[in-house]
Amino acid sequence: MNGIEILKGLTITLRHFVDTYIVDIVKGRKHYFTPEGIQSRAEADTRGIFTVQYPEEKVPVPEEFRYFPFLVYDVKEDGSKVVRCTSCGICSKVCPPQCIWIVRSVDPETKKPIPSPAEFYIDVDICMNCGFCAEFCPFDAIKMDHDYEIASYDRTTAHIFDLQKLLKPASYYEKIRPVNAESEDRVRAEKEAAKNAPKKPVQEAST
Ligand code: SF4
Ligand code: SF4
Repeated sequence: MNGIEILKGLTITLRHFVDTYIVDIVKGRKHYFTPEGIQSRAEADTRGIFTVQYPEEKVPVPEEFRYFPFLVYDVKEDGSKVVRCTSCGICSKVCPPQCIWIVRSVDPETKKPIPSPAEFYIDVDICMNCGFCAEFCPFDAIKMDHDYEIASYDRTTAHIFDLQKLLKPASYYEKIRPVNAESEDRVRAEKEAAKNAPKKPVQEAST
């Protein structure tokens, strides 16, 4: 009885093996290293090889996929960077494992705080990818990244992301999360328009 089941299993393996060559001949190289090829191999009725040749090929991730957070900056017309983060500290307060540290900037002359981070650190060995920081940030300044290839041999410093490592342009965010970015831009523009709209004169109460 066991021998029959083993034979059935080997037959399935052999069928996939032969199918792989048949599909390769029919579809050619476009069956590999193209988004369409990866997608067709992921379908339930695919024939032949269905594995992905990582790292040469990567499974596309959905927009809501989240790995570690990154900080967003806008680029002005003159090319200067404007970091969206105001160092309000909300993200570090809501972070469940408390893996965010922020140091607020200070005006060197007046010593008054400036709403911008002087330092910003995330310990990605502790981060649990929950996305709370991005959910709660009132300035759309911290977002969840799609980049999951961060393996390194150095756990002491390479896994503490600092400001330089965390900062990415808004254009990157728009690329990985186009639907989210578009709706957030629209809401921000509406808020800005409402703020700048001329105020209606207050009507005096009639006696
Ligand atoms: S990323 Fe957002 S929530 Fe966190 S400190 Fe900056 S502005 Fe505040
Ligand atoms: S994703 Fe979650 S755990 Fe990671 S930094 Fe943000 S709030 Fe903290």
